Amino acid sequence: MPRSNRRRRDEHRPLRMGAMSSQTVQSWMGRRWVVRSLNGTTSTRGYTCPGCTHDIAPGTPHVVVWPDDGMGGVDDRRHWHNACWRARDQGRYGR
Ligand SMILES: [Zn+2]
Repeated sequence: MPRSNRRRRDEHRPLRMGAMSSQTVQSWMGRRWVVRSLNGTTSTRGYTCPGCTHDIAPGTPHVVVWPDDGMGGVDDRRHWHNACWRARDQGRYGR
């Protein structure tokens, strides 16, 4: 009968709630938008930022934004550079 003093110890893994994604609701163009920050590590493909019309390379931290009024679906999600989203009201988009 084998004896073992070794016991498997389950390591405590603290839940990182909110660490991976932070989500806020912001107003823009008279609508409310859910804005979620992504650290980019889970994205495997690039997106086109509507702010600067440039690509967001995979792995780049950015935000994903969609309407909070329930009218939009997944197709209404837009991926923005962090800086472009912050600058959305400064007239630097659309060109
Ligand atoms: Zn951009």
